[in-house]
Amino acid sequence: MSESKPRGEYPGASACGSSADETDPPGRHSPADREETPMNDHRSLGRQLGLFGTDPLIGAGLPYWLPDGAAVRHALEEYIRDAERRAGYRHVYSPVLGKRELYEISGHWSHYSDDMFPPMDVGGEQVVLRPSLCPHHALIYRSRARSHRELPLRMAELGGMYRAELSGVLGGLNRVRSIHLNDAHIFCTLDQVADEARAALDMIRRAYEALGIRPARLRLSLPGPGGKYVADPGKWRRSTAVLREVLDGSGMAYEAVEGEAAFYGPKIDVQVVDGAGRESTLSTVQVDFHQPERFDLRYVGADGARHRPVMVHRSIIGSVERAVAHLIEVHGGAFPAWLSPTQVAVLPVAEAQLPHADAFLRRCAERGLRAEQDGPDRGSLGARVRAARLVPYQVIIGAAEAAEGRVSLRLRDGRRVDALPVDEALARVEALVAARRVVLWDAEAAAPS
Ligand SMILES: [Zn+2]
Repeated sequence: MSESKPRGEYPGASACGSSADETDPPGRHSPADREETPMNDHRSLGRQLGLFGTDPLIGAGLPYWLPDGAAVRHALEEYIRDAERRAGYRHVYSPVLGKRELYEISGHWSHYSDDMFPPMDVGGEQVVLRPSLCPHHALIYRSRARSHRELPLRMAELGGMYRAELSGVLGGLNRVRSIHLNDAHIFCTLDQVADEARAALDMIRRAYEALGIRPARLRLSLPGPGGKYVADPGKWRRSTAVLREVLDGSGMAYEAVEGEAAFYGPKIDVQVVDGAGRESTLSTVQVDFHQPERFDLRYVGADGARHRPVMVHRSIIGSVERAVAHLIEVHGGAFPAWLSPTQVAVLPVAEAQLPHADAFLRRCAERGLRAEQDGPDRGSLGARVRAARLVPYQVIIGAAEAAEGRVSLRLRDGRRVDALPVDEALARVEALVAARRVVLWDAEAAAPS
């Protein structure tokens, strides 16, 4: 994002949309970085695992999600919405279209129209596919008078936006024309910015822990030389100081990089590296003074006067497309149990145990677990265990287990759990999935097979 083309430097295009930008070219990272990054390409794994696909008749950069990919995406979206609700966010929905005039006000039209789809004429008006969610959220904020008692007002949406990427750069889920963004805007006073940014960074840290991913680095993106930045040295100094204070207090190492700020404010970028060693931004926290002015946003303060709020743009996982692409590559398709398309593989040893397997499968479905049965007609038990190697929990039901009302559990990593009563096995797996942790089982309870 250091190139002169101002991609990703608009309200929303950066905090809310930079997740669709490739940033640095390969070769910038140390060999150690690359060794730690699995070389799984999410495009080939996505095809092999039946997660998503494309069709020339739908078009380049417009992937569809197959049932297994959709299951991963739903789990991810549920996690995000749940985390946001717990953190005091309120969710909204807004349309993926807006009048051209809206983007003229936001500044996207003058700075960003190269990356936008051309306008459509409808009944004498021009409407465009939105390049970010921020302008809609600013209008929702402005839809009625706001009091200081409502601040910080945290507005979240997992919504669609569009980017007219050139077909040459499109690939898999990383570079797409239809983007679903985990987006939020916090309207607050300047004094509240630090706490809000700190809380957002904390949400990012917890999400990465649950997802089993880690940042390649944190970047404090600052303005560089040149006149492309909104002029107000005092506000720049104050917001930069706030983000520095938040980063310093986080205990996480970061690097300040000049010339990477949005034109209206500094931001924290959480960078990840893909299987080919390319770095991109997954998560952002950004302080914006520009959009509230463009949309003349106000709140009534304790003094009865009207004041201008600050907008904090933040995204925990960026776009679901890029997040899932990254998860596929990091885990090689062996997702944490709570994200796995299939969480439980039910493997009856012989025909005689089929009724027990069917009953177990129904019990899994009743508890909301994603389970599939792989019967003896599909080959030897060993072959079926191998076929289910990406499934976190493999439930084996032989004659002894069936007679005792128990099941044997085998974990994806090869560990085995002593046969458990059916209810206990179900309850344990359900609790582990609900906890949204990366660990498959409590260590002391399982032994290597
Ligand atoms: Zn935004």
